[in-house]
Amino acid sequence: MHDAALLLGLLLAAVVIGFGLGVRYRAKRWPYRPAAKAPALSKEYFVGLNYLLNEQPDEAINTFINALDVNSDTVETHIALGKLFRARGEATKAVSIHQNLLARPALSTAINEHIQLELAQDFIALGVHDRAQRLLKTLLAQSSDEARRLAAKRLLLDLLDREREWQEALDIVGPFIKQQPAMRHPAAHWLCELAAEEIAQSSRPLARRHLKKALQMDESCVRATLMLAELEMENGHYPRAIEWLERIPGQDIAHIPTMLSALRRAFERSDNPDAFEAHLERLLFQAPYTSVIIALGEVIHRRDGVDRAIERTGHWLREAPSLGGLDYLVDLYLQSERLTGKTTPDTRLLLLKHHTGALLEGRPRHRCRHCGFTSDQLVWQCPSCRRWGTVKPITGVEGE
Ligand SMILES: [Zn+2]
Repeated sequence: MHDAALLLGLLLAAVVIGFGLGVRYRAKRWPYRPAAKAPALSKEYFVGLNYLLNEQPDEAINTFINALDVNSDTVETHIALGKLFRARGEATKAVSIHQNLLARPALSTAINEHIQLELAQDFIALGVHDRAQRLLKTLLAQSSDEARRLAAKRLLLDLLDREREWQEALDIVGPFIKQQPAMRHPAAHWLCELAAEEIAQSSRPLARRHLKKALQMDESCVRATLMLAELEMENGHYPRAIEWLERIPGQDIAHIPTMLSALRRAFERSDNPDAFEAHLERLLFQAPYTSVIIALGEVIHRRDGVDRAIERTGHWLREAPSLGGLDYLVDLYLQSERLTGKTTPDTRLLLLKHHTGALLEGRPRHRCRHCGFTSDQLVWQCPSCRRWGTVKPITGVEGE
């Protein structure tokens, strides 16, 4: 309704301004013209007003559009109207306005290219991606204006990303990556996608090449590092896998929980599994995340028994309290009780466990730092805002 009011306001203003310009223009040409013969508002204007008064905004909008001639003074208004229709979810109307404009032969090259960019966005909104792609590629081939070429490239990259055409997107982004450093981040993920495709086809060397390129593109690409570590583990090179994983906290500290299971596997299979504990302690010093505390608690539990694990975990959780940590601690207390030979567990502990379990149940483990989308699994591209690498583990008191 707000959009409709805006549209109507814009149209009324455009029609009235057009009328005013017409009066001034004629007044200049015929300064002695009698007032009684001044041009009148078009019939459509009053029909439109009538629709408006009868609360029929769609009919009013259509009538006003018909009343508004396309000329060099009003073409921008028509483009703005198309944009508003698209924003209202009426992309078909936007397409017809923009196509109608393009059919006018007297448009300047700049206006023509501006309309083509708008039309491409209409097609994207309608889901007609192939037509949008063709239009943008033609525009890129013909336009000499740097700003419009950049706008067309951005739209085309967005389309290729939606269509999962990673290599084509990389070919387009390559030549202008220096001017657009923000594109390094998605480009690194496109390379990771290509690597994943190669891994699925058992072409490990090609996958490794894509992943190394991804790190050249964006040295903070956690995903590429994680995938390289996994490839090393597949080949039985555990120390090399650990070397890769050690880079992740420096790339993005929030992804420490993401790499923990790979790190555990790499250490367990390496020649020096005991070094895992010292490694976890270093991570705990860097970021006292619940998953690191629990991983350390498990190592101590296996080696020194449950009571020592309770003591150490309790100490760390005093420094970094969390719901997940408390839940783990209650589990340890329950196990300790069982070991003392008690046949029925302490009801207070069971009540606590019930509460922590209920509070943790259904709680998302990952959140997009850009739009707030939450999910249980880690996804590298946010399904909601479509940004790459913005979904990260939730940490803190209620996290992990
Ligand atoms: Zn998002």
